[in-house]
Amino acid sequence: MKIMAVNAGSSSLKFQLLDMPSEGVITSGLVERIGYYNAVFTMKKDDEKITVTQEILNHKEAVHLVVEGLIKNGIIESLDEIKGVGHRVVQGGEIFKNSAIITDEVIEQIKSLSDLAPLHNPANITGIEAFRSFLPNVIQVAVFDTTFHQTMTEDAFLYATPYEWYQNYGVRKYGFHGTSHQFVSERAVELLDNPKAKVIVCHLGNGASLCAVDGGKSVDTSMGLTPLEGIPMGTRSGNIDPTVLMLIADKENKSYAEVLDDLNKRSGFLGVSGISNDSRDILREMRNGNHRAALAHQIQVKRIADYIGSYYVYMGGLDAIIFTAGIGENEGFVRASILQAVKVLGVEVDPVENAKRGERLITTPNSKVKAFIIPTNEEVMIAREVMRLK
Ligand code: AMP
Repeated sequence: MKIMAVNAGSSSLKFQLLDMPSEGVITSGLVERIGYYNAVFTMKKDDEKITVTQEILNHKEAVHLVVEGLIKNGIIESLDEIKGVGHRVVQGGEIFKNSAIITDEVIEQIKSLSDLAPLHNPANITGIEAFRSFLPNVIQVAVFDTTFHQTMTEDAFLYATPYEWYQNYGVRKYGFHGTSHQFVSERAVELLDNPKAKVIVCHLGNGASLCAVDGGKSVDTSMGLTPLEGIPMGTRSGNIDPTVLMLIADKENKSYAEVLDDLNKRSGFLGVSGISNDSRDILREMRNGNHRAALAHQIQVKRIADYIGSYYVYMGGLDAIIFTAGIGENEGFVRASILQAVKVLGVEVDPVENAKRGERLITTPNSKVKAFIIPTNEEVMIAREVMRLK
């Protein structure tokens, strides 16, 4: 059965067509620069990459191009073959404790959460509405980044701010990357052969977050009301004293929104190093002796170790640390640096295994806490959710 997994951003639309339940990828693709005259549509056909550059004014046109491309390239014969569409939605607030079959009411509820995710939820809705118009009779499911973390208890998700902020405006930690944390931690439980396992997932990509998973449930995570909180990332600062906002607004004559933009887009690896948001550039320049590149790496490692220590204590133990996403899956040096920083927990890295890629154990048999690389797959998780709710 063919299921489409969709991730719509404000000017992009990523998709993967999967064969379920085998979870094989039939094709995948991307529309970028939606809203521009020189938008780019790419799609894989066998080992070939098809690229089309043309004007694509909105998400509806983008989806039209995608479905037309699927038929024109012989990937499907008719639209009837697509039996379900799953959409990544960033913010599900406290409304969605589970993935949801999309109805008019669900769309209104997602819209009502836009205050909490002004850049993401409206973009996700445009993707949903575009697919609904082309496939009106096909089940569509919203899969939220926040749902997996809805098992956090109040002590973990509440900020120590006036309680009315939570009651009146929903100010609390929601956490993100939930689909990835869920996929990876479910696999970790299988590898450990222990449904009660305590694991910490390090999703380290351009965006990065940690999640403490106890017996399959998220009990704490590093991102907060928005994906700005937590560890430093490619361009995001992670945690800072909020007073910085006022100080910089004052010194640089900026609005709070502009300073927030600096914290989201010009901080993290990019801000500290002044070089790049990409870990490959950071590590290369660090090896060339660049102090600020080294600092960007060291600050991130230190903050990750802080979280691992705190989750170890909070869960009362730890069976495994899992690395996933672009950096977690590919940068052995970063993994080794983090594991070295938490060595006191009894972690012993196997340097031979850590130098390899793909799903594997990267600690020695003596290690008290295991560590694994587990590649994430958010699209498969989305397709699984569509199958579950069908
Ligand atoms: P993601 O957001 O999961 O796509 O991860 C992006 C981050 O992974 C960037 O900082 C990349 O530099 C880093 N990365 C390191 N090695 C690789 C690789 N071989 N392929 C893709 N991303 C990589």
